[in-house]
Amino acid sequence: MMNAPRVRFAPSPTGELHVGNARTALFNWLYARRHRGVFLLRIEDTDVARSSPDHETRLMEDLRWLGLGWDEGVGEGGGDGPYRQSERLALYRARAEELLQGGLAYPCFCSPQVLEEERAAQRDAGRASLYTGRCRVIPREEAMLRRRRGEEFAVRFNVAAAAGHEPSIECPDMVHGDVRFPVSQIGDFVILRRDGWPSYNFAVVVDDALMRVTHVIRGDDHLSNTPRQILVYRALGTKTLPRFAHLPLILGRDGAPLSKREGAASVVWFREQGYPPEALLNYLALLGWSPPSGQDLLTREELVAQFDFDRVSRAPAIFDRPKLDALAARHMARLPVARLAEMAAEQMIETGLLDRDVSPEIQQWLGRLALLYADRLPRMRQLPEASAFLFEFEARKSLDDPEVRKTLVDPKSRAVIEVLVRRLGPESLTAPRFQAVADEVRRETGTKGRDLYHPIRIALTGASSGPEMVKLLPVIEEGSRLPLRKRIASCAERARALLSATQGMSA
Ligand code: GLU
Repeated sequence: MMNAPRVRFAPSPTGELHVGNARTALFNWLYARRHRGVFLLRIEDTDVARSSPDHETRLMEDLRWLGLGWDEGVGEGGGDGPYRQSERLALYRARAEELLQGGLAYPCFCSPQVLEEERAAQRDAGRASLYTGRCRVIPREEAMLRRRRGEEFAVRFNVAAAAGHEPSIECPDMVHGDVRFPVSQIGDFVILRRDGWPSYNFAVVVDDALMRVTHVIRGDDHLSNTPRQILVYRALGTKTLPRFAHLPLILGRDGAPLSKREGAASVVWFREQGYPPEALLNYLALLGWSPPSGQDLLTREELVAQFDFDRVSRAPAIFDRPKLDALAARHMARLPVARLAEMAAEQMIETGLLDRDVSPEIQQWLGRLALLYADRLPRMRQLPEASAFLFEFEARKSLDDPEVRKTLVDPKSRAVIEVLVRRLGPESLTAPRFQAVADEVRRETGTKGRDLYHPIRIALTGASSGPEMVKLLPVIEEGSRLPLRKRIASCAERARALLSATQGMSA
């Protein structure tokens, strides 16, 4: 049996949690849960100018909303902390110093201008920009002297020393198979910048080694960094390298990478729109992975039970909103009514239909309202609009719907509605009461089927379409008795108002 894996999600807190990164977090989480391993959260905040604590907080909120809790890391603690790179500078500096001592790294005194000029010249000549190695040949004593004199320097990795005679570095990958990179294409890279902060390729290896990470699961964009990182592992004397898995890129429907600037590419957008988190999670899992069972709707538990890297694809995945929406509506329809109520309340407050403190009574009613629509709502943000006709009933406004108008002035339909209104007593329209009244109207008018029910729907709701009446009407009736910010008109009130608004109108 293999040892329990230790995996990590290592985001940089420089913006909102992008769906691509959320998918990376998810695959790490799934792998850890599947194999009863440990999922770590490490914050890679070495880009001081772009990182912020606010982004870090929101990132953690988004992960928690998705249900991707971590076992160790920022906010959770653990034996390998601190888990924020900005708090680990001493560790990187100590490792860099060891590499300097061992000749696996050297101080580079080149000024930023000189380096930039060199890079520009290489670019102009159409060559890859690789450091020339100028400072590698400075004799050790001279370098020491210059350091002691206080000359500024960065620490560069000595690629040739670490690679030995190997012409290429092999990077075994669980998704891509074995990928080889020629050493000649790897220039001596900076591991510690002049300001004493580590570069990504260095910090990530120091941390993954110290945190005993067994599987590095991340986006494809890091595949080309892997040979550098493997060299650093070797230089640091790490005995067992982690296994790597590079996940395919996520593209938009236009084939272009999902832009970070696009609102709909951030987890927070889906959260604010009231998507069920289990739906987004399910959809993200299908971006680059296909379940052996062939199901498309999978619960968190099913994902954990079925996930593995042998079914992760190398081909880019397409983020297709309509597909997500179809899946999300199916998830929505399966949610317990208490969850629907909570999500509905959030959206009703957000859109100003409800006041902030929602009583338990109103909350329960919201659950029943949301249930009417659940199977066709991918996101709860659509509920206020779908149910607007309940809150905003006004006879004149209803008449803007040509179908409503036509029905109300049609003599046959009008006869049905007149009988209906006469038969509506003071009691509330429960489902059985509605059936009884509809029966009475049928007997008295001799109308049946659509000719009966369509005018009844229009009269009692003020709208020409909507959820099934036996379910909808009791919700309208209950709503009309609740102390809501916007009072809901009862069915009888609607019917009477519509009749009088169309009095004397002709077809
Ligand atoms: N901070 C890096 C990123 O967000 C982590 C990459 C890695 O997982 O090694 O891209």
